[in-house]
Amino acid sequence: MNTVKDAFLPNLCWIIGNGKSVKNFDDRWIPYLPGFRPSSTARDLTPCIWVPDLLLPGTNTWNEPLLHSFFPAFEVNAILRIIISYSNDDDRLIWVKTKSGLFSSKSFYTTLLAAQASSSGTESSFPWYTFWKVTNCSPRIKIFAWRLLIGAVAIRAAISRFITNISQHCPLCGSAPETIDHLFIHCPIIQTILLASPVGFRVEDSNISISKLFTVWLQSNSTGETFRLGICLLWSLWKARNRALFDNKEFYISIVIKNALKVFNDYSVVSTDIFQSMRVDSAPNLVAPQQLHWLPPAEDVIKIHVDRAIGHSNSSCAAIAHNANCVFEGCGTQCNPLCSPEEAEAMAFLLGLQLALKMNFTTCIIEGDALNVIRCINDTSTPIPWRIRSIILHIRSLLPSFCSVSFVYVNRACNSAAHVLAKFASS
Ligand SMILES: [Zn+2]
Repeated sequence: MNTVKDAFLPNLCWIIGNGKSVKNFDDRWIPYLPGFRPSSTARDLTPCIWVPDLLLPGTNTWNEPLLHSFFPAFEVNAILRIIISYSNDDDRLIWVKTKSGLFSSKSFYTTLLAAQASSSGTESSFPWYTFWKVTNCSPRIKIFAWRLLIGAVAIRAAISRFITNISQHCPLCGSAPETIDHLFIHCPIIQTILLASPVGFRVEDSNISISKLFTVWLQSNSTGETFRLGICLLWSLWKARNRALFDNKEFYISIVIKNALKVFNDYSVVSTDIFQSMRVDSAPNLVAPQQLHWLPPAEDVIKIHVDRAIGHSNSSCAAIAHNANCVFEGCGTQCNPLCSPEEAEAMAFLLGLQLALKMNFTTCIIEGDALNVIRCINDTSTPIPWRIRSIILHIRSLLPSFCSVSFVYVNRACNSAAHVLAKFASS
């Protein structure tokens, strides 16, 4: 019974609407913190019980000095990432194990299985049949995954058994011996990579082993896409780790993710749900022919291109505005903490809207290449992934300030200026 409870409650998190239902110190409401709630014990010292008590009076802006008086810096930074929209929408309790935030018995079963496996303290039998049945994956990466399972990878803890005077410490974080489980699951570097990648996987079980992790991934979806992308990420991490160690090359999280996505994509026959959250570069049926080239807007209309970039340790977004005569009207950039590509895309659209407001563009078109975000903004019947819900609601709440504003998909090739600017902002 405890296992059921342990698998259920820690995976619920409030997504803040107006904040009125959520208690600052008791509820789980900060998606960017382990356990989703602050560790602060200041609850007994303050009348600030509810989330709106942490805002500047009459605004939707966080009261930063007040936050710093209650929470350590990393918790303040996590809270500042939460956007409070003007929409006065209700707070919503979501299930973090699905993209939509809606509870599903299948995802709960998978979570329960992982919790049971780790609480039993013994290795459950590994689903070898499912493992070998996975297709659409580079054979050499699958063999690499198999070598991880049988412990046949030359990590430092293994080598040091045979060679003395060799450091056992993880070369990436230096905080623990480099074992397979550490390097590929528990190291803060791989945890950041797994969370920031389209897998969006958060390692919550501090005892999970590589075979249990693979079991969870294999059971996540019938097409094995989580497993396939997951092992591409681990393989890409291993390659980058070796290049850093033996060739003195710089280690960049963004390049690990980029290389993993490339090899994942090379072997994927059809685009998958996971890949939908990345760029929609190859969607010819969704792009009208004229949108393959940059077109100036009509007279008195401003066109704003938006895009995002994932950097080494942060993400960034950019917005560039032009008028009907193709004359540059203004631009804006913003650096954010490392987040999922989808969150970064949504932030880019919000930045575009904020640029328009700041420059008093009341009639504008905002163009970007993130089709999933555009759908969420335009179509109120489209389920919003919980990770970008507050951003989308905030965007919608700003729309009444405009005479006319539309959000349009463009091919990535037409969006290169915004992409270059976003990349520049992240560097
Ligand atoms: Zn490490």
